[in-house]
Amino acid sequence: MIEHSHNSYLPVSREEMETRNWDAVDIVLITGDAYVDHPGFGTAVIGRVLEAVGYRVGVIAMPDWKDPDSITVFGKPRLFFGITSGNVDSMLSRYTAFKKVRNDDPYAPGGAGGHKPSRALIVYSNLVRQCYKDVAIVIGGIEASMRRFVHYDFWSDKVRRSIIQDTRADVLAYGMSETAIVKIAERMKSGSDLQGIAGTVSLSRSKPDAGVMLPSEADMMASRKTFSEGYRLFYRNQHRLMVQPVGKRFWIHTPQNRPSTDALDRIYALPFLRQPHPQYDESVPAFEMIRNSITAHRGCVSGCGFCSLNLHQGRRIVSRSEKSVISEVKKMSASPDFKGHVTDIGGPSANMYGFGCSRDWICSRESCLFPDVCPNLRMGNDHWLSLLCRAKKVKNVKHVTVGSGLRYDVFMRDPEHKRHLKQLARDHISGQLKIAPEHVDERTLRAMRKKPLFPLQNFVKAFHSASRAAGKMQYLVPYVMSCHPGSTQRAAAILRKTIKQIFGYFPEQAQAFIPLPMTLSSVIYYTGRDPLTDEKFAVMRDSSVRREQHRILLGKMRKSGAQKKKKPYIKSSLQRRSKKRKRR
Ligand code: SF4
Repeated sequence: MIEHSHNSYLPVSREEMETRNWDAVDIVLITGDAYVDHPGFGTAVIGRVLEAVGYRVGVIAMPDWKDPDSITVFGKPRLFFGITSGNVDSMLSRYTAFKKVRNDDPYAPGGAGGHKPSRALIVYSNLVRQCYKDVAIVIGGIEASMRRFVHYDFWSDKVRRSIIQDTRADVLAYGMSETAIVKIAERMKSGSDLQGIAGTVSLSRSKPDAGVMLPSEADMMASRKTFSEGYRLFYRNQHRLMVQPVGKRFWIHTPQNRPSTDALDRIYALPFLRQPHPQYDESVPAFEMIRNSITAHRGCVSGCGFCSLNLHQGRRIVSRSEKSVISEVKKMSASPDFKGHVTDIGGPSANMYGFGCSRDWICSRESCLFPDVCPNLRMGNDHWLSLLCRAKKVKNVKHVTVGSGLRYDVFMRDPEHKRHLKQLARDHISGQLKIAPEHVDERTLRAMRKKPLFPLQNFVKAFHSASRAAGKMQYLVPYVMSCHPGSTQRAAAILRKTIKQIFGYFPEQAQAFIPLPMTLSSVIYYTGRDPLTDEKFAVMRDSSVRREQHRILLGKMRKSGAQKKKKPYIKSSLQRRSKKRKRR
């Protein structure tokens, strides 16, 4: 049921609520980001999904966390407060890889940092509890999702319990939680209990009859070995109901239902205005980056250890239909400020559009690509390239390029890769293409659970020759990473040298590894061992050693005392004269 015509933003103030003749809202969404009504922003998606099934939704974006009044804009909602830190974990958004405060926040108007508190979910939830003792709280978004289980927190260098406890939320919706949030709203409306909803975490006083029993939270927090065992069980049983004793209660993790293509198509067809709310005077940099880009699929088959995506979006790819993507391109290109350039059509890795598993079963592998490509993986470039080609034919569209990264080794596994690379280089690159080899050291790559499936140097040669044939000067931008478990100072120096040899230059920027909560790599960082294989890896934890490795990678190594040449002391003529005068 659609309640009213959607030609306006979701209300952000009492006045906007009253213009709709509402006396109250059913749900208030609180976010640490600016409110941008675009499908690339989680709050807009959740808000529009709830609105489409008939709920009255208000948005409080970037509330002043020191002022409880900023939470009471709409009064107490009839059903619940839905709280998210925004598109990025608040600790990642506030601090650099070396734990320095960031000055910027691309999700805030003007891009200035400081609008979002550290541990935003906890801060916002406390603020809500301060104002309304008995209101229901639902937490979601990446911060809730990737802290839903006992996890290592890099910023405090401690193991923390599930965030559902710290926020005292009624339920946590993890992943891309459109289906879960609608179910939660339905249950709250009918007064039913919130347990057992697919894609959620909840706490219960009674132990469920079924489910994989994990080591208790207290045991996982007390011992590195149990932490690792508990994580392994969690990682391998995400498709099952899991239970963990937490004091006198039980933490219950209900598996997610993968959305269908139809469900994704319906979400992206919702009436997003594709603009930040007009209350902002300044532009929102993160929006400017994606305003003309389109998400074609979700999920990633790779399962790289340092990345949150497979634990958040899932390891199976779900792609939108071509029709749905093209109708979004048409909508975008009809906008008066569209200049003819679609900057991306992709997902976590652009060229994974249309990938799938030929067996519809519960799979026990942790990655479809590591340690080798699974024979059941349906892959290939045709779907994606034909989509780019179709998009280019839409009225007003002049260019369709690849803005997100290309998984180059997977791209080159297609038997038709020569023809495809020609098409890509000729039609779909805007000057540069990002690829992410991450490292070249075999041990580090194993810790990352990433195996190059095609030789990097061959791809670089093939790309340049395809670009020359197209008569274009185009560059590859390699993404590489320092400080990942397994990477030593020597490995970083070799990485720099190899990248320079292969690409002819080294990029100005490189990523220093950050152990993101709940990722496989964060467990290796904390325990020194891969929780899935028990292999031991060297880990650089000391911040000065991490900085040193990063400097080695960037070629900015400061010279040590021994290396510094002492400058010969040349007495100035002035000094010599004054000495002579003294002697006289
Ligand atoms: S069977 Fe193979 S392709 Fe299918 S999900 Fe498992 S690893 Fe991936």
